[in-house]
Amino acid sequence: MKSRLWSRSHDDYARPGEFVSNLRSIRGMNDIFPEEVRYWQRLESTVSDLLANYGYGEVRFPIVEHTELFRRSIGEVTDIVEKEMYSFDDRNGDNLTLRPEGTAGCVRAAIQKGILNTPQRLWYAGPMFRHERPQKGRQRQFHQVGVEAFGVATPDMDAELIVLTARLWHQLGIADAVELQINSIGNAQTRKRHCTALVEYLERHVDELDEDSRRRLQSNPLRILDSKNPVTQALLDNAPALPDFLDDESAADFSKLCELLGRAGVSFVLNPRLVRGLDYYNKTVFEWVTNKLGAQGTVCAGGRYDGLVEQLGGKSTPGVGFAMGMERLVLLVAELGLSATTFARADVYVVSVGDRAQGLALETVEGLRDILPGYRIVQHVGGGSFKSQMKKADKSGAKVALIWGDDEVDSATVTIKPLRRDVDTGQIGQQNLPLAELEAALVDALTE
Ligand code: ATP
Ligand code: MG
Repeated sequence: MKSRLWSRSHDDYARPGEFVSNLRSIRGMNDIFPEEVRYWQRLESTVSDLLANYGYGEVRFPIVEHTELFRRSIGEVTDIVEKEMYSFDDRNGDNLTLRPEGTAGCVRAAIQKGILNTPQRLWYAGPMFRHERPQKGRQRQFHQVGVEAFGVATPDMDAELIVLTARLWHQLGIADAVELQINSIGNAQTRKRHCTALVEYLERHVDELDEDSRRRLQSNPLRILDSKNPVTQALLDNAPALPDFLDDESAADFSKLCELLGRAGVSFVLNPRLVRGLDYYNKTVFEWVTNKLGAQGTVCAGGRYDGLVEQLGGKSTPGVGFAMGMERLVLLVAELGLSATTFARADVYVVSVGDRAQGLALETVEGLRDILPGYRIVQHVGGGSFKSQMKKADKSGAKVALIWGDDEVDSATVTIKPLRRDVDTGQIGQQNLPLAELEAALVDALTE
């Protein structure tokens, strides 16, 4: 079900000659209508069921926080804090920010609630805000599901998080389209020693660096590894590699993680240049990447952040987590995941022609809703010919139409018509049944 729906541009809202209101959505912040929301709901319910099955609890915290929280956690010299945050003074003069990511708020909430003295498995979902250049798979308001595990320093925790994401991709039908990349960025000493070597190397090639990277050479050299500039990336091919500087503990944890992923049947690629765009990570970092969405290929990313809780004022507590980008996953699932029928709006479409038929249809269908509460039954409204109602039935994606006309009313029956061709016979057969047999026939038709 690829459709125009998914490819928006701001100009879509203003066609020449059309009445155009001045009141429009903010660039990079999209409205999502039922056709697309169906995919979101399916994705969200799959994720929340899966997380519940692994023992994770949902947490909800505010969209607005003190700006200080993000400065202190994400890091001053990061793209997000330097140029992407929506910050403002409120009426009290407090400087606040629309959250650009969830980990900081989640950690803040967990510290404030005082729950970090025992291990915690938490998740959250909701909108995030970053002032970036809008494009396919990159918005200014976008949505993440984030998962965080606190209180466990051993790599079995990292493995669990990665293994559960792998299961999710299978459930969504996108497992073949994503690749897991992992790396370890070690502890602070690892990065310091690597940093010294990296700066030494890059200073010898300073002419080839762009302005951003030159600035980072002073302020935060590790960030240069994250550069999207191809010239810089080529230069980095021969630069000192982070894994060569790994401390013993990080190296041991990383090899344990790789072993556990192997035991769980999750394959991965080692990417020694993976560092992630936020400052709070240490040891494990990972990304799930697809080549099906162009430049915005990372659908899920995370890592370990053992220092963050303490940095934000809590008692030293290890943590590891990730966030997935819902827009990118919806695009991917819509392109090649679960079949379109899984996302149909309806299981059953109810057609009734004439006043008498309409009454009988409503009465019968309300009874059906009582006994079959799990089915999505869409009742035709607004009248119209049999032909026009059947067109709507076909469009609804329903598997079955229930049809009432004068004949059915006179004989106290219903006509049940499958809307999909039988895969074996290629036939579409319809049946006329006494009302008493409707429930059984419907269950039969829908569970085939
Ligand atoms: P990218 O390199 O694509 O900018 P990131 O490293 O900034 O991603 P994270 O902060 O780790 O991303 O967020 C986790 C996930 O959230 C990303 O992998 C991506 O799927 C999604 N994401 C991040 N920024 C955006 C955005 N502006 N629009 C849509 N999705 C986003
Ligand atoms: Mg980014």
